[in-house]
Amino acid sequence: MANNRNIVIILMGPPGVGKGTQSFLLQKHYNIPALSSGNILSNFIQNNIDNKGEQGELASKLKKIINRGELIQDEIITDIISKRMLHSDCQRGCILDGFPRNVNQADILSSIIEGAGVKPDIIAVVSISLDAEMLFKRISGRIVCKGCRASYNKYFLPTVVAGVCDNCGGVEFLNRDDDSEDVIRNRIKTYRAETSPLIEYYRGKTWGLLEVDGDNSHVAIFDQIKAYIASL
Ligand code: AMP
Repeated sequence: MANNRNIVIILMGPPGVGKGTQSFLLQKHYNIPALSSGNILSNFIQNNIDNKGEQGELASKLKKIINRGELIQDEIITDIISKRMLHSDCQRGCILDGFPRNVNQADILSSIIEGAGVKPDIIAVVSISLDAEMLFKRISGRIVCKGCRASYNKYFLPTVVAGVCDNCGGVEFLNRDDDSEDVIRNRIKTYRAETSPLIEYYRGKTWGLLEVDGDNSHVAIFDQIKAYIASL
């Protein structure tokens, strides 16, 4: 039973491919925490406010980089992930959503796992891919109701009445700061240039790699990942 084994799941894929959804499902299924590097960074930025209500220097530097759709420095993200993995909830493993993001981070990952005292029986690497135009629509179409946080997509899951939340009737919607069109294109470009070489990197590793088509339904993708982990 995979559920009794210590598992580290590395989820790779461009922005908008559905890593967050899979993380959520896998977290519940294997009862291990999902560590989203993007969420950890955005919490760090939000909490880094001094007593004058101003953002700390590091936080504002990180925010600028994220809002350009580029990667932050390896030393910073590896330090943040190492510290998070030391928490006791990671002892049986975890899901890494958004880390590693380049070959250098992938090289460091084994020592992070070891340093955290996690002894995985299984390391499952999953790469979800999707065509760039589809990704663009998935991200640029994403809107969240300001009132109740219900999420929609103007291309794939629009509100019944344009501009009105189906759930609460609210008329104000939010986008992520890094969800503007130029930034989205840049995030996809950054993924291609820096992160996609990891697919070849992990193909060459003894752990193996599951490659999944992100156009499948989230349920089908989840089933493929579970079947893959069971086969390891
Ligand atoms: P995500 O929500 O995973 O797309 O992350 C949002 C942003 O955080 C990315 O566009 C990067 O700027 C930054 N980020 C997240 N994870 C990493 C990482 N492993 N290495 C460098 N930057 C990262």
